[in-house]
Amino acid sequence: MLELKEITKIIGDKIILRNFSLALSPGESVAVIGPNGAGKSTFFKLAAGLMQPTSGEILLNGEQIKKKTHLLKKRIGYLGHESFLYNSLTPLENLRFYGKLYKVKNIEEKGMELLKAVGLHYFKDIPIRSFSRGMIQRLAIARVLLAEPEFLLLDEPHTGLDQEAVSLLNQLMKERQKQGISILLISHDFEQVINVCDRVLILNKGRVISDRNIDPQLELMSFKKWYEAAVIGK
Ligand code: ADP
Ligand code: MG
Ligand code: MG
Repeated sequence: MLELKEITKIIGDKIILRNFSLALSPGESVAVIGPNGAGKSTFFKLAAGLMQPTSGEILLNGEQIKKKTHLLKKRIGYLGHESFLYNSLTPLENLRFYGKLYKVKNIEEKGMELLKAVGLHYFKDIPIRSFSRGMIQRLAIARVLLAEPEFLLLDEPHTGLDQEAVSLLNQLMKERQKQGISILLISHDFEQVINVCDRVLILNKGRVISDRNIDPQLELMSFKKWYEAAVIGK
């Protein structure tokens, strides 16, 4: 279980998150949506141990997260706006590098399996400097899944992906969820949010202004109306 308890984050004189709390249970998939600048990415960086809260605490299975140790990196798979990949290396070499870092067993097999899953296996031996944004994003997704983390924090993972890659990513997320892995997803693509998540929070100006479950019957139009009423309506 990943728990954030009454987190406040202040940078300079700006309050980025105000008294934010969330508990993520095994196998739960929660979307975090909201306007630009709402504090979504900051929340993920805090949850991943990349930043420290000004007040409040973050607990991973009851243990307080202090900083981003290697162990933490294995347990929390964080995909942010930066890919953390090496341009001079091929996809397979990038995965080998991270596999060694995280002490992943059967790196070669695991690496190839993931490259297939994201549709990059034909490009496995080409240095990634010539890759398109979508191809880089596919590899970034494979990297995040390599150490089989218990929690996936995916900040706008659909950005730059074509339709095929969006389907592959959704499939990977659903498979992981079935295995009991918890997912936090930031996305502006409400169709994907409804497709993948069981619950959604709206973050606005550093506060949770709405929180609901997503039932399988929920339609995109009514979801959009709910969002607009919450963010603009009042
Ligand atoms: P979102 O992901 O919802 O678009 P962010 O978490 O990236 O929002 O940013 C929330 C607010 O915090 C924005 O107003 C942004 O300008 C500010 N912010 C984020 N990081 C920093 C930083 N390192 N220094 C100063 N302000 C920051
Ligand atoms: Mg944004
Ligand atoms: Mg962001």
